[in-house]
Amino acid sequence: MKTKQKVDPYLSLLEIPPGYLNITGLINGSSNSGLGSRAVVWLQGCMRECSNCFNPHSQSFDSNRLISIDNLAKIITSNPQNEGVIFSGGEPFWQAPSLTELAKQLKAAGLNAMAFTCFSLERLQSPYAPAKSKELLAQLDVLVDNSGVESIKTDDKEPVISQGRRVHILNPALRESMTYYLKMVYSIEDFV
Ligand code: SF4
Repeated sequence: MKTKQKVDPYLSLLEIPPGYLNITGLINGSSNSGLGSRAVVWLQGCMRECSNCFNPHSQSFDSNRLISIDNLAKIITSNPQNEGVIFSGGEPFWQAPSLTELAKQLKAAGLNAMAFTCFSLERLQSPYAPAKSKELLAQLDVLVDNSGVESIKTDDKEPVISQGRRVHILNPALRESMTYYLKMVYSIEDFV
């Protein structure tokens, strides 16, 4: 019996054309996060294989839906109700170079940016982080990190955040509003 050969994640990442992102899905204008109307982009690919992963279909690094940064920015900014964007996954930081360019375009259009990651902030700031992690961090207003598991569901029903999360408000201007919403909606107390 033939077994499917596992694709090398690093090779799959190299196959994404420049200026493109490999995404699992997109919701344009979700208010279920409790943080106002936001676009949610799920990035395809995660090197962990948590048994209780909310989005197991996002773990593979195989090409799923390739979309250009410009097109994605246009879709998100064309919804006048969007106040911001959430990057989730999979693991967003494996596509940090292109995601940074997307975040720049969205921020220039007045949106704020939040990301969920399965790395800790300390790892993302270290030499062992995925390429261009620091550049992506510089564009983010809020980071929800974790050294355990972290993701939000892709079905746009109940947002679920797993245990062990920490919220880093990277943009002080948003501290008050974000803290209020995150405490109310997610009962998060661990703010950094
Ligand atoms: S829960 Fe997060 S870290 Fe674990 S496999 Fe799913 S996306 Fe990856």
